[in-house]
Amino acid sequence: MDLGEGIRKALAKLTRSTIIDAKTIKEFNKELQKTLLSADVEVELVLKFTKDIENAALKSKPPEGLAPTDYITKIVYDELVKLMGSSYTPELKKKRILLMGLYGSGKTTTAAKLAKFYQNRGLSAGVICCDVVRPAAYEQLETLAKQANVEFFGIKGEKDPAKIAIEGLKKFKDKSVVICDTSGRNALDNELVEELKRVANAFQPDEKILVISADIGQVSGRQAREFDNAAKITGVIVTKMDGSGRGGGALSATAAAKVPVLFIGVGEKLNDIEPYNAEKFIGGLLGIPDIEGLVGRVQEAIKEANINPEDVDIENLTFDTFYTQLKAMGKMGPLKNVFGMLGAPDVPKEMIEQSEGKLKKYKAIIGSMTKEERNNEKLLHQPGRIARIAKGSGVSERDVHMLISDFNKMKKLFKSFKNDRGIMKKFSKFM
Ligand code: GDP
Ligand code: MG
Repeated sequence: MDLGEGIRKALAKLTRSTIIDAKTIKEFNKELQKTLLSADVEVELVLKFTKDIENAALKSKPPEGLAPTDYITKIVYDELVKLMGSSYTPELKKKRILLMGLYGSGKTTTAAKLAKFYQNRGLSAGVICCDVVRPAAYEQLETLAKQANVEFFGIKGEKDPAKIAIEGLKKFKDKSVVICDTSGRNALDNELVEELKRVANAFQPDEKILVISADIGQVSGRQAREFDNAAKITGVIVTKMDGSGRGGGALSATAAAKVPVLFIGVGEKLNDIEPYNAEKFIGGLLGIPDIEGLVGRVQEAIKEANINPEDVDIENLTFDTFYTQLKAMGKMGPLKNVFGMLGAPDVPKEMIEQSEGKLKKYKAIIGSMTKEERNNEKLLHQPGRIARIAKGSGVSERDVHMLISDFNKMKKLFKSFKNDRGIMKKFSKFM
């Protein structure tokens, strides 16, 4: 079972609970810890990861009307982004890139893909073959470079990769991006460690990237740690995401070496590479294609629940913000006591005691307004508009007048609050 699968299973179990409390979070985290540990993520990191989730989940209640799993999924998503890095935007500047990885991980292909990627964006690029182990490594990269229309350098028969790197740098001194492909092994052994150190020393890379295949699963954590110890990696590229692997290994790798994912390989062709996109990748990992929609939904719900009157632009209050405010206030049961407590005499009580029915009516009315009308209450007083809106939303004209009156009451109320910082502060706390 790879890491993503483990997380998906834990989330699926959580779906069955209707409330999120300390107990369900603890259970969820236990599952998560199991799967993270079996994926070879460091114990310390696992504990921190789950503790962060617990804190985030218990810090505030899920906003009303939001499915608990959506809420937790969003929290897990946020923590995963913290762990794996946010979406990557490659800097288009001069740089040297050293690629490392085991046999068949996709180093050589990635070298040519990257060179092409940068060259297509206006940076001249060259690739150097420092793989002195694999037979025909030279020819493979030479061919790929030709296909990619980037320059190639290698010294056939040379056994010292450091020497090739130095000669290659001389040849490519005018190139903006120089990429060095290295030897692989079936496993990282002392010989390869020594070789990588020598090449890194000679090549002086700006980026030392570990290339891993999406299907290697849980061993990637250990692998990343070993490569990191040998040559201090700065990032990870995950190849073969077009295959069956979901890339859970990338998570273990980035967690283990504490480096971000930079690129994703999505096919054998030279154009099949894309900068890491956090939403897309983590959505895939969690098995939620529309993670973007989910995250947006949760954010919207949180925003509504935490609306801060100080953030509302009273002078330019529109019917849209009015409705959001109203909805938020409707959820605040104790709010009417708060108003009383604050001694605000002209609080429109009926506004606070909004029933769902009234809210629905108001929503329909606002929905029947034109964009201009929503943004400018004064327009509504032009002849015919109120009748049109009432008809369009299936309510009486009186209802529309009531909405306008509530709208103006709220405006007045908020204005009076604005002028009194003390009350404002207290009020904000309750919102
Ligand atoms: P190296 O041993 O690390 O240099 O790996 P290679 O670059 O030689 O790649 C090994 C195999 O994986 C080749 O057949 C590549 O075509 C294939 N490969 C590399 N990247 C990808 C990818 O993103 N998707 C797919 N489907 N195949 C890939
Ligand atoms: Mg190779």
